[in-house]
Amino acid sequence: MNKIAVIGSGTMGNGIAHVFAQHGYQVSLIDLSADALSKALATIEKNLDRQIKKELITEAEKESTLKNLTTFTETEAGVKDVDLVVEAATENTDLKLKIFKNLDEICGPNTILATNTSSISITKIAAVTKRSDKVIGMHFMNPVPVMKLVEVIRGYNTSNETTTIVMELSKKLSKVPVEVNDYPGFVANRILMPMINEAIYSLFEGVAGVEEIDTVMKLGMAHPMGPLQLADFIGLDVCLSILHVLHEGLGNPKYAPCPLLVNMVQAGHKGVKSGSGFYSWNHGTKDLVVADRFKK
Ligand code: NAD
Repeated sequence: MNKIAVIGSGTMGNGIAHVFAQHGYQVSLIDLSADALSKALATIEKNLDRQIKKELITEAEKESTLKNLTTFTETEAGVKDVDLVVEAATENTDLKLKIFKNLDEICGPNTILATNTSSISITKIAAVTKRSDKVIGMHFMNPVPVMKLVEVIRGYNTSNETTTIVMELSKKLSKVPVEVNDYPGFVANRILMPMINEAIYSLFEGVAGVEEIDTVMKLGMAHPMGPLQLADFIGLDVCLSILHVLHEGLGNPKYAPCPLLVNMVQAGHKGVKSGSGFYSWNHGTKDLVVADRFKK
């Protein structure tokens, strides 16, 4: 493994490209527009500066990381001769199926095709290719340069060889890979999303307020942030769509999204990205401020 392509340069894609480039891999970062790519490079540079400030890397390492990165708006040019593609495009099933069908046609026969999807079936994605043994989930966590875990998801036909290569590669990135099988939500979101949903139900049913729920989980369970704050960070629309995947895929009513979450997403309150969710994110301070709607 030497050359890697990352498809999508958003929140996750730029982090994945950053980590591979920092560990000496030649990285092609691919997105639809030059504008998206220049924003991604600016983010990577800012995050490298933050690592220098924390004395995690040197100025020379920053320079070599940036040198390892090349950007492309044409997928075919970007994936030429790569050993691995990590797809981190927008979470949309039809889009991912289209991307993987195309990758299967344009990549060399030995290229491994990985996806960073949070919730779409790896087996389903693999089925549109003629190399389902070489398709795998590589689920990085946000922010990628900081978070240690890579959830490595085996599709139904993923080979032992592909799994071993991706597990070893993840270790070379100084990450801790964990192998799981392909069922809805994998492990991370199957456990996290019901907890977030239950926190929203607790608010919805008036068991406690936003701050109280988050404080119980922070101080009582030693979580670094409460589930409602975390939901705002992830994006309430993303939480809702993962809950739909769990509900439909596992067929159990316990995964049904709380009506309050559905309402909030429909009303455009999606958390940090929209400026308000359970908390308000537009007040210009670092303090946590409960959204007006949930103030007592
Ligand atoms: P994002 O919206 O920040 O970025 C997606 C990028 O993909 C955009 O820049 C978009 O222009 C690009 N894109 C869309 N179609 C493309 C195509 N055909 N070719 C190239 N680029 C294309 O999304 P994100 O939050 O980075 O999520 C990306 C993936 O990572 C999703 O599958 C998501 O489920 C998963 N994920 C997200 C998180 C998170 O916390 N955000 C965590 C784990 C996994």
